[in-house]
Parts: sequence; C-alpha cells; structure tokens
Amino acid sequence: MPKNRPKTVKKLKHAAIARNPGQRAKLSPKLSGKIRRVSVEIGEIVRKRAQAEAAIAEARKSHERLREAIDILPQGIVFLDADGRYILWNKKYAEIYSRSSDLFRPGARLEDTIRIGVERGDYPEAIGREEEWVAERLARLYQPGERHEQILADGRCILIDERLTEGGGIIGLRVDITELKQREASFRLLFNSNPIPMIVCALDDERILGVNAAAVEHYGYSRAEFEKLTIRSVQAFESEPPWAGDPSSDEMAARTWKHVRADGTLIDLAIYSRHLVYGDQPAVLVALMDITERKRAEARLAFMAQHDGLTGLPNRNLLRQHMDEILLHTRRSAEKVGVLILGLDNFKAVNDTLGHGIGDKLLRGVAKRLRSVLREEDTLARLNSDEFAIVQSGLARPEDAALLSRRLLEAIGDPYLLDGHSVVIGASIGIAMAPGDGDESEKLLKNADMALSRAKNDSRGTFSFFEAGMDARAQSRRKIEIDLRGAIQNDVLRPYYQPLIDLATGRITGFEALVRWPHPERGMISPAEFIPVAEETGLINGLGGLMLRRACLDAAQWPDDVRVAVNLSPLQFRTGNLLSIVMDALKQSGLPPKRLELEITETLLLEKSGQVLATLHALRALGVRISMDDFGTGYSSLSYLRSFPFDKIKIDQSFVRDLGANRDAQAIVRSIISLGIGLGVTITAEGVETEAELSCLRAEGCHEGQGFLFSCARPNADIVSLLNAQRGADVTAPANPVRTAPLVA
Ligand code: C2E
Ligand code: CA
Ligand code: CA
Repeated sequence: MPKNRPKTVKKLKHAAIARNPGQRAKLSPKLSGKIRRVSVEIGEIVRKRAQAEAAIAEARKSHERLREAIDILPQGIVFLDADGRYILWNKKYAEIYSRSSDLFRPGARLEDTIRIGVERGDYPEAIGREEEWVAERLARLYQPGERHEQILADGRCILIDERLTEGGGIIGLRVDITELKQREASFRLLFNSNPIPMIVCALDDERILGVNAAAVEHYGYSRAEFEKLTIRSVQAFESEPPWAGDPSSDEMAARTWKHVRADGTLIDLAIYSRHLVYGDQPAVLVALMDITERKRAEARLAFMAQHDGLTGLPNRNLLRQHMDEILLHTRRSAEKVGVLILGLDNFKAVNDTLGHGIGDKLLRGVAKRLRSVLREEDTLARLNSDEFAIVQSGLARPEDAALLSRRLLEAIGDPYLLDGHSVVIGASIGIAMAPGDGDESEKLLKNADMALSRAKNDSRGTFSFFEAGMDARAQSRRKIEIDLRGAIQNDVLRPYYQPLIDLATGRITGFEALVRWPHPERGMISPAEFIPVAEETGLINGLGGLMLRRACLDAAQWPDDVRVAVNLSPLQFRTGNLLSIVMDALKQSGLPPKRLELEITETLLLEKSGQVLATLHALRALGVRISMDDFGTGYSSLSYLRSFPFDKIKIDQSFVRDLGANRDAQAIVRSIISLGIGLGVTITAEGVETEAELSCLRAEGCHEGQGFLFSCARPNADIVSLLNAQRGADVTAPANPVRTAPLVA
C-alpha cells in the first residue's frame, strides 16, 4: 500500500482536476485524456464499492432473516461447517444447552465445546468414561441420518438428529423429549407392574414385542418364548386377531377371545386393544382380562336355564327349541314327528313314602332307561316332576310311535333297586303326531298331554294317541273342576251308602260311603269322573274331609253294630293332619272309632314309608279299622299285606266279575280268601252282581259281599228303612240276606 501511495496521490490530484472543468480547460490534451480515463476508473471503483456494500447489506439481511426464521423453530438447530465449527444456531439450541452457551462462538469447534462440557459435568452419562463417551459422540457426528438421545445434567433428555449437508457441513436438530421420555417411563411402569396381563404386538406381522410380568405368569411362557411368538399363535383357533379388521381405530375395543397357555389349557379373555407406536413401530397394546371363570359360570347358568338339574336332560324351554327346529326341517318332507309325553304313575307316592332322595334316584334311573331305548337323534326332555317328553322324527307311520311307546313302557317297568328298596313304577304315554295333531311345538305338547290324561284314565301303564275331541274333553274336565269347587263350597256333595253283607248270616255289617254329586245340569255325576279331577287339583282334601264328617254323623244315628266305611285318597295322607281330621269327625259325631272303617288303596303303600305307616298305626290305635281296597289290581299287593296289619281286604270287582267264566279268577279269589283266613283278616268281595257269584263266594268261604245284587249306594234317608227291613227280616227269616231291587249306581 505505501508503495502505491504517490501513484494514488497523483490519481487523486488528477481526479480533483478532472472534477474542476475550469482547471481541466487549462490542461494539455494528453493530460486531460489521462484525467478522463482516471475519472472513468474512479467512477467504476465507486460503483463496485457501492455494489459490494449493497451485497454485504443484502447478505446481512438474509442472514438476519435466516436467524429470525430458525429462531422461531420449536427445535434447536445448529449449523456446523465441514471442520465441525459453529456457523449458526438458533435460540432454542442455546436454550437447550444453556449451561454451555458461553462456549458457543462462530468458528469455535463443537468438539471443543463437548470436551469442555464433559469436563464440567454437563453430560452425566459421560462421567467416569469421559474419553470413551467423547469418542462415541464424535463418531456419530458425521454419520448421515444419525439420531441418538442425550441426557443433560439437569435430567432433560435431548434427541439429537444430525445430517450432512452437501458442502460437507452438518445441520443438527435438537428436540427436548424429556416429557415424552417421562410418559414412556410411566407407560413402562404401568405396563410392567400391571396386574392385568398385557402384550404389545406389532401391527404388521403380529409379532409379540413385549409382555408384562402378569402375562408371563398367566400364560406360563417365558419372556424369551413369548418374543418368538405372534399373537395369532397363542389364539386357540386360527383367526384374525380382534383388532385386525380396523387398524385405524384407536378405540379400546373389548372383544372376547380364546387363548392357549403354555400348558395347553384354554382361557377365555376379554381383550382391550389400543393402537400405539412402540419403539418406532406401529403396534397394538393388548390388555387381557381372564374371564374363563365368568364364562364357565355363564355357561353353567345357560345350561341350567335349559336343562333339568336332576337328570341333566333338556327342560321344556330347550325341548321347544329342538321341536321348532325339527318341525321346520320336516315341514316339506313326508316324514312324521312323534311327540310323546310319558307320565310316571304314582310317582308322588314314591316320593312321599320313600323320601325325596330315593325319588330323585328313581327319576335318574328312569331317565337313563328311557335314553337307552332311544336313538341318538331322538330328543328326551324332562317336563316336570314326573313327566318326560320324547320327540322322534323321521317316522313313517303313527305305528312307529306306538312301537316306541311299548318299548319305553317295558324299559321302565322293571323294578329299580334303590338303596336296598325294590321300587316299581309304571308309566303312561300320550302321543301327538306332526303333522296332523299340530304343526307347532306348544300345540303338539298340549295335545300329547291330553292324550296322556286319556291313557291315565283308561288304564295306567298304556299309551294313547291324541284324538280330535280330546280338547273338548279337557275343557269339560276344567269345567268339572270349577263346578266341583262350587259344589264343595256350597256343600252339595252327599255320601250315599252301599251295604256290606255278612255272607254267612245275610246281615248288614256296615255301609260304604260313596260320594254323590247331584249336578244341576248333568244330574248325578259319577265319582269315577270327578275324584281324579279332585285329586289332580287338590280339592280331594276338602272333599274327603266333608265325606268323613258327614259319614260319621250319619252312622252315629245307625244301630251300634253297623259300621261305616269311608274311602281315603293317598293325597289325604300328604297333608299331615289326617289323624286330627279323623279324630275331630269321631268326636263331633260321637261315633265310636271301632265303627269307622277307612279304605285305602295299594298306591298309598308303594313302599313302606315312615309317615304313612305311622299315620295308619295311629289311626288303628284309635280303634279305627283299616281296609285294603281294590286288592289285586296293583303291582305287588301281597308284599303290602306284610307292611301293615290290615283289618279287611276287599277283593277287586274285576276278579268277582270273572268268577263264573274264568277258572283263573276263581283260583285267585280262592287264594285271596284263604290268605285272609290265614292272616285273620276279613275278606270282602266287591261288585257282587249275580247269584252265581254269590254262591261261588259263599262256597269259597268269603266273609262279606258288596254289590248291586244286594243294593246300590243309597241316600242316608233310605238306610234307616233298609235297616228296619233287616230288623223285620231278622224276626221272620234270619238266614236270608237283605236284598233290594238291583239298581245301577
Ligand atoms: P270303590 O271304592 O271301589 O267303590 C266301589 C265302587 O263300585 C262304587 O262306585 C260303587 O258304586 C261300585 N259298585 C258297587 N257295587 C257294584 C256292582 O255290583 N257292580 C259294579 N259294576 N259296580 C259296583 P262309585 O260310587 O262310582 O265310586 C267309584 C270310586 O270312586 C270308588 O271306588 C272310590 O275309589 C271312589 N270314591 C267314591 N267315593 C269316594 C270318597 O268319598 N272319597 C274317595 N277318596 N274316593 C271315593
Ligand atoms: Ca272303596
Ligand atoms: Ca273297591
């Protein structure tokens, strides 16, 4: 520069001259040419300088703008040159590294600031391994796309993302992820120590990425084993995982699922899933609530709602469902469906006499035998305490249902050995056929039920098909029930009395009270028609009590040696107060107990029962006589004779009826009579209608007779005249039995 100085002074002189036109005019042309050139040069220099100044101002402005721009970024940003020297950084960067901001200067090296920072303890991770840490940090610096996290002394966590620029420099981003890290940590805590098993699995390949301790314990797989599995591989059935359908959904969707544990057991789960990013990958967090027990309980409840607890058979609900399905399937075919209702005969008596324990065992035994007769595809259900239903599809003709009924009745009929008791139970079956008797389940069951009532009424131990008109009969039964209730309330029922004749003397020993119902519209209704209705509906207790009281009152007016016999239904023993009812009737009427006879049937004594026998013994202890009615019609009449010391046996009229024609009947009657004589029990023959029968009975030594041959049942008013006639006969012809015109009862 100093070397150039005289030249410059000269130039400046020239320039001054050039600016002054007056002086310029005085100059020589050569000099003035030179001066012109110099002034052009100077103009050029001035212009360039102005240009440079403008460019610098512009550069400064854009630098300023760049700084402004990067300053508003939420992340820290730093520019380093190819030597790792600071060029530029934003406010956030300075803020993040506030502890070392004193070290930032343009041109300072990042490496140096890092080293100083390490020395000052700005990076807790470096403590104790400073050199190593710095080396690692610097190695990362020129790795393209490098991201890592850095912990600062105050605990903040910074995500570092550094990229190479084209010129070999570095743009570094710094994001404060402290909050994110805290959230992650609390997630981890929540995940790991949660008592609910949790699994994180990848959304794309369903790999299990993480499990918590509860999942390890619940499933029995180790963590390592778990991480080799996919969520699909722990599912019991190959299928889509429950969230697979809608990966966009972020909802905690609850579904149920079945999984397999390490030991092979299956568990039911309610699955709550939520989409999240785990590490870097899209994943699903699955919380698994084990609901196996709840499901089991639900299944048990559902089973109980549709099955009978005692036999495990379907109940009426399930039966109807099955029937609806079967009926739907056979609607268009030529096949028939048989609906059978099987009712046990006198099951209640078994229950009452032997106790519920044996009753239950009997029902289970019956169910088993019924099942053994049926095909796999036939439906067997329990409808109520003593009724079962059988639905058989694919029948060609109604006879097939009849055949099945016979086999069912046969299977049931054999004795059951229950806790040392031999129990015999009979059954009756009602059959309805579809199509024909109905095309929907309820109607078919109703019709089969009506057919069952018919079977029971006709003669127990048989089956009966539904017939049109049964419905009407069932309705008339309902009408009987209503009317009977009224008749009992209004006290219109009356005992009629049928005499019992001593066959040796022909004298009346007593009368059997037989209930009569004078119906305002239908005339006299037979007890055979309304007693079963009374038994079914429980009206028998009121009716029986009425008859007993009235019979005792009437008999108290008769001569001292004339007894009265009253029929008792087995149901009257169930109320438990029969003894006091009898005692009251005796007390009210003043009738001596020895003049009262109670007739019971064998059904009461299906087996020895404590309660029934105790009542019978107590009645007998009063002095009341106990007769066995309808002897020979039950299952094991003989064994019943051993269970209680009866005073009288009444041979059922069916044997007496056959006496004339049937040798077997004769043999039976003969042996009953000798049995009675052997046991010291009075033998009475019922239903004596002819002289032939009478003489036959007399010849066999039968004690007593009862029947239309002597008299039908008559109102009490007639009895007095009858007894008077006897008294008269006593005077005139003592050996002649009392006769009245044979009348139909
Ligand atoms: P049961 O105890 O066997 O009564 C005898 C039945 O045979 C009576 O029928 C009677 O009228 C009838 N009978 C009598 N002699 C003859 C005869 O020579 N030939 C024929 N064919 N029948 C004869 P009833 O009065 O219709 O009674 C029917 C059944 O009703 C009775 O049979 C009895 O089991 C029941 N019953 C009647 N009254 C009562 C009652 O007050 N209480 C209870 N629990 N049952 C009763
Ligand atoms: Ca009787
Ligand atoms: Ca009888």
